[in-house]
Amino acid sequence: MYKLGIDLGGTKIEAVLLNENLDVIHRKRIPTPQNNYQNILDSITSLVNEISENVKDYSVGICTPGAISKQTGLIKNSNTQCLIGKSLKEDLENNLEKNISMENDANCFAMAEATMGVAKDFDLVFGVILGTGVGGGIVIDKQLYSGRTNIGGEWGHHTLHREGNTCYCGKCGCVETYISGPALENQWMKLTGETKSLPEILMNLDNRNGKKWKDEFLENFGYGLANVIDILDPDAIVLGGGLSNIDFLYTEGKESVHSKVFSDLVDTPILKNQLGDSAGVFGACML
Ligand SMILES: [Zn+2]
Repeated sequence: MYKLGIDLGGTKIEAVLLNENLDVIHRKRIPTPQNNYQNILDSITSLVNEISENVKDYSVGICTPGAISKQTGLIKNSNTQCLIGKSLKEDLENNLEKNISMENDANCFAMAEATMGVAKDFDLVFGVILGTGVGGGIVIDKQLYSGRTNIGGEWGHHTLHREGNTCYCGKCGCVETYISGPALENQWMKLTGETKSLPEILMNLDNRNGKKWKDEFLENFGYGLANVIDILDPDAIVLGGGLSNIDFLYTEGKESVHSKVFSDLVDTPILKNQLGDSAGVFGACML
């Protein structure tokens, strides 16, 4: 059976068709229609029909921004605002006249890396998105484990500091408010009074503020992932998202994580993703 995956992003919609050997047969990108749910629905429908032409038997998986409520099937917390509260899965199933699978981008990332990417030889994989937000997905023996209420792997809202930064989720001190890109830029601002982008900050850390900023980042990264290891004990952790390009996360970051795990033997590999921006669309294929 062929696998068709769609990655629905804020600016582009990408589609890929894989054959039985997971070779790419067809690939296409179109811009995402802005602020109009019906146009997004129509675009995805015609994209699926176009790239599946002449193929009889294929599955369809969709990678969406934001979470899908297990209770209602509706999209929640999406930064593509016009999707919120919409039943995208059901509407697409009606248009395409077939069942489809739909997962958020962190889960699709984890699936892609655990089946086709850097972690394909590991059994239990924790995929981590570190970018504008912090998310995660759990894959066990090539199957996504999304949990009883679809929040499996959502370590971004574990509490790191109970009296810490306020989070949009209503709590304080969530992981995301310390080690997401915007949070790290904020932290720099608090330390120095300067507004700098993350790449600018990373360019020169060889000074007092730079060292302090980096130490705090490593501590929070370390406690955040050590908590995950204590519960899940994964065979590998894969980092994705913009911050996965920070080299010291794989050396000093890994040491910080390992030093905080409750075990005398810690050797959990922390790996850089292999599929980059394509993880969403490949993960959608593998759902
Ligand atoms: Zn939160």
